[in-house]
Amino acid sequence: MSFFVLGQGSNIIPHPHVNKFVCQLSLRGVEIVRETTDEVFVKVAAGESWHEFVMSAVCNKWYGLENLALIPGSVGAAPVQNIGAYGVEVASAIQHVEVLSLNSEIQNISVEACEFGYRDSIFKRNRNQIILAVQFRLQKKAKVVVEYPQLKQQLTGLSSVIPTPQQIAAAVIQIRQAKLPDPSRDANVGSLFKNPIVSHKAAALIMSKHKGLVQYPQHNGVKLSAAQLIDRAGWKNKGTNAIECWPTQPLVIVNKSATQATEIIAFADAMKADIYKRYEVELELEPYELF
Ligand SMILES: Cc1cc2nc3c(=O)[nH]c(=O)nc-3n(C[C@H](O)[C@H](O)[C@H](O)COP(=O)(O)OP(=O)(O)OC[C@H]3O[C@@H](n4cnc5c(N)ncnc54)[C@H](O)[C@@H]3O)c2cc1C
Repeated sequence: MSFFVLGQGSNIIPHPHVNKFVCQLSLRGVEIVRETTDEVFVKVAAGESWHEFVMSAVCNKWYGLENLALIPGSVGAAPVQNIGAYGVEVASAIQHVEVLSLNSEIQNISVEACEFGYRDSIFKRNRNQIILAVQFRLQKKAKVVVEYPQLKQQLTGLSSVIPTPQQIAAAVIQIRQAKLPDPSRDANVGSLFKNPIVSHKAAALIMSKHKGLVQYPQHNGVKLSAAQLIDRAGWKNKGTNAIECWPTQPLVIVNKSATQATEIIAFADAMKADIYKRYEVELELEPYELF
């Protein structure tokens, strides 16, 4: 029987019968491994809460993760899909990931060998590795990232010219609380789909047919906003009694009363088929469907 490592379950769509051995790590601990004048290297156990660690880092003046405040889940899950928000991905602050492999060896996988990409890493593709801890390389002098439009807007009006990491974390928390459903009250797994990346040629064709779509140039093509495609296709009004799109972020669907994962997947499939019909863009599910 294969195994599955569960973090806090915030990015999982579980079916009622799971044919895997499911384990959850309760490893805890935050340890300063090394310090220089400019940097601090911190090893954090997989079972720590992601948001609590981000806030303690900000408090300790260890910078680089402040844009990732309030993302639900554990530290061990963060590298799996290379969590990202408001212009920062966790890969930018990782030195290495400590992993237990199937052959019982514990090894450190360097940030380069993790093959981080947009919501992607080797851990997502190779599920035979258990992340025990993540070693972060954090900055003592803040290098703030505030280009993300919504964040920039939230920060306008501050008296300081350059916002502090503390102000950034506070702004991110405010944006997220206003925009996203709290999973402890409204069941959801965050974004249902990844933002699609299409070729430059495909993007040009889509833009010629659909004016005003946002596009973010990437090294491997053009990233489109899945939320915008879903919104324009009218999915905010296509919810059922059991499942609906969150009004301020239609990429997040909320489960009001569905009792089976199949109901969520059927809703996602209908959305996916509709988006393909309208834009010829293939959406890819972001959460993990657990059988
Ligand atoms: C409201 C909401 C908002 C969100 N916003 C964002 C966002 O802004 N950006 C973003 O990137 N994500 C976001 N997410 C998704 C989610 O928070 C992240 O994917 C998070 O990292 C999941 O953590 P978890 O501990 O709950 O992992 P789980 O959901 O339990 O697991 C996720 C995956 O990681 C694997 N995994 C977990 N722990 C380990 C381990 N120790 N070793 C090996 N594999 C492991 C699991 O097998 C699974 O494949 C959001 C989710 C919600 C509900």
